[in-house]
Amino acid sequence: MTLKELKIGQSAVITSVGGEGALRQHFLDMGVIPGAEVTVVKYAPMGDPMELQIHGYELTLRLADADQIGVESIEERSNPHKRIDRIDDSYHPGLGEDGKYHSKENEDPLPDGTVLTYALVGNQNSGKTTLFNQLTGSNQHVGNFPGVTVDRKDGPIKGHADTLITDLPGIYSMSPYSSEEIVSRNFVLDYETRPTAIINIVDATNIERNMYLTIQLLEMGIPMVVALNMMDEVTGNGGAIDINKMEDMLGVPVVPISAAKNQGVDELVDHALHIAKYQERPTRQDFCSKDDHGGAIHRAIHAVQHIIEDHADKAGLPVRFAAVKVVEGDPLITEQLKLDDNELEMIEHVVLQMEREGGMDRSAAIADMRFDFIERVCENTVRKPRESKERIRSERIDSILTGKWTAIPCFIGIMGLVFVLTFNVIGLFFQDLLEKGIGALTDVVDSALTAGNVNEVIHGLIIGGIFEGVGSVLSFLPIVVTMFFFLSIMEDSGYIARVAFFMDKLLRKIGLSGRSIVPMLIGFGCTVPAVMATRTLPSRRDRRMTILLTPFMSCSAKIPIYGFFVSAFFPGKGGLIMIGLYLLGVIVAILVALLFKNSLFKGEAVPFVMELPNYRMPGAKNVLRLMWEKAKDFITRAFSVILVATVVVWFLKTFDMHLGLVEDSSQSIMGQLAGVLVPIFEPLGLGDWRIVTSLISGFMAKESVVATMEMLFKEGITSALTALSAATLLVYSLLYTPCVAAVASIKREMGGKWAFGVVIWQCAVAWVVALIFKLILAGIGL
Ligand code: GDP
Ligand code: MG
Repeated sequence: MTLKELKIGQSAVITSVGGEGALRQHFLDMGVIPGAEVTVVKYAPMGDPMELQIHGYELTLRLADADQIGVESIEERSNPHKRIDRIDDSYHPGLGEDGKYHSKENEDPLPDGTVLTYALVGNQNSGKTTLFNQLTGSNQHVGNFPGVTVDRKDGPIKGHADTLITDLPGIYSMSPYSSEEIVSRNFVLDYETRPTAIINIVDATNIERNMYLTIQLLEMGIPMVVALNMMDEVTGNGGAIDINKMEDMLGVPVVPISAAKNQGVDELVDHALHIAKYQERPTRQDFCSKDDHGGAIHRAIHAVQHIIEDHADKAGLPVRFAAVKVVEGDPLITEQLKLDDNELEMIEHVVLQMEREGGMDRSAAIADMRFDFIERVCENTVRKPRESKERIRSERIDSILTGKWTAIPCFIGIMGLVFVLTFNVIGLFFQDLLEKGIGALTDVVDSALTAGNVNEVIHGLIIGGIFEGVGSVLSFLPIVVTMFFFLSIMEDSGYIARVAFFMDKLLRKIGLSGRSIVPMLIGFGCTVPAVMATRTLPSRRDRRMTILLTPFMSCSAKIPIYGFFVSAFFPGKGGLIMIGLYLLGVIVAILVALLFKNSLFKGEAVPFVMELPNYRMPGAKNVLRLMWEKAKDFITRAFSVILVATVVVWFLKTFDMHLGLVEDSSQSIMGQLAGVLVPIFEPLGLGDWRIVTSLISGFMAKESVVATMEMLFKEGITSALTALSAATLLVYSLLYTPCVAAVASIKREMGGKWAFGVVIWQCAVAWVVALIFKLILAGIGL
């Protein structure tokens, strides 16, 4: 039978793992290997995906994938591993004292003044960001890894200027899978970026799964220290870990810490400095055992190790790591080694022999070897608590937040609350404040310029161009910051992972995965934070596709446009029209998604193999830091584009073709340009330069469409438009190009070409849909 056929609460042993390539490797890396025991926890409210418990943690899996995994049902799960009942309450000695794991104490230090670089590597949700913030304090730099939009944060360790620590994206394994994993792997592996040492953060409450990565890092032979995080939860539940024994078995220093409570971090720093300075490499890299599967894996790895030794040296790869990867069948590493045909054939024979003897294919065999070793370590060093308070609490919360009937209503409720607080309460309050401040500043500068007799044109540029344009965009800032406050709480607490879990089925139909729902919902508020929020998506393809869809969600700045036309043309039908427009946006987005899915973004959304972490209290530092980062990001990067755009629009509005100042705005370049564009809007029944001008100024901020119209249609809008053209205009304004602030953030995520493409593409889609609407409405006689 397959995993898919299991009922809730049933347990089974995995017998085979189907599928192929990177996806299958990913399953294996997540611990889905033959011999592992699983229990079905629940199905998502829509029936897909499913939640399992495996290796002591919660994993989600789509049914289609679960169908590829063969299982054998069992009555009851065996004890995950023999627990040790008693752990000596031995003291964990400090640095340099007896018992500590240091192999090369005081030998060959790196020359003074060498910058010690560290990579902070760990699973997602292991507390990396929390630890990074503790280690670096306020002094850090945020950017992107070269060539990819994957967050890169680095900064020196507090009080040690000669260090640089980089927070890498969370990864589960050193097999390249998502773009984040490739970035992390290359950062550690590539000669130019290779750090002097690694700080590997391990979630002690989930040690089996976390240590899978640790072992692969050890194989690389780079100096390393293990930070055993969340020890507060382990000890709080009566668990314990024999640190000294663990150090002994792993061959590297292990430091128990609690990043959230800032415990043990100083000791971690001491060790990190020491291992980097003295280049203390892990003393153990060999995790195969002679008794495993009759020693088949052990023999294969060691044989391959000898065959590739000089190739690995030449390619600058750690030999043991490369050998294991070659046995596992990693194509990238095999290619890097530049083996000749004869050698490749030799290796193939060795690996085939291993597969035959061990009764397992190569990837599964290696994963099995790693988990076997981990099990041995845990048996000897970990006293597990019965069931942790946090786990029980999470289950209780989940019975509501991901419950069959309650999940979606709760989600709507939570998002509703976030929206009301962001757009009507907190965000609005600060927005008002900021607008008033900008207004006051504008007045002051205005009178100063008048008093100083400054040239009228420059005066106009400063007040009418820069202050007004940048000011109107800047007033988004409170909304962006407030939105990210809530978003980071939802993300850090573990809720977003749940949302992805129960929305996955729906989103999958349009070629995305569950996580995309959050940015798209934020899009109903404002496209800017929505685009910025796509950073939480695990794959580049999903991220890009989501970014292209968010502008179709009707943002809150369009509400004044709707209000204006409803009161002028359709009094009393406001509610109906608003709902209709919102729905239309969603429908168009779905159609566009289906189109993309089959053209621009062919291929599958990222498979949904995801961990559901326990709910945890988000750390205030992390939340504040994220808000600050996003605010800075918005101000600095968006500002440049916005400033240029404002000045350009001001210029177009102020001058005529001969660069003379205009009295009548119809004579301005903008008016002329609008005149040129009029024929395009003719078929929509919107062939009036004033309408086109208003739409162009809507590019600055959607609110300004109404203001411009009021200014240009002095005799009132009703005399210039019919109900039919007003309806068409509503549809067009719903769908056409996002405002400059949004385009700036799209540019930041996807580059200038895409941002430009989005502007053109949205205008084209809007035009087509508006035309269809016009024809239909005319047909039914509006
Ligand atoms: P990352 O995904 O690896 O960057 O993990 P985060 O730093 O975002 O942490 C995930 C969650 O675990 C957050 O809610 C943190 O507040 C929480 N957390 C981090 N370290 C600890 C710890 O030592 N103890 C406890 N109880 N919670 C922690
Ligand atoms: Mg993080």
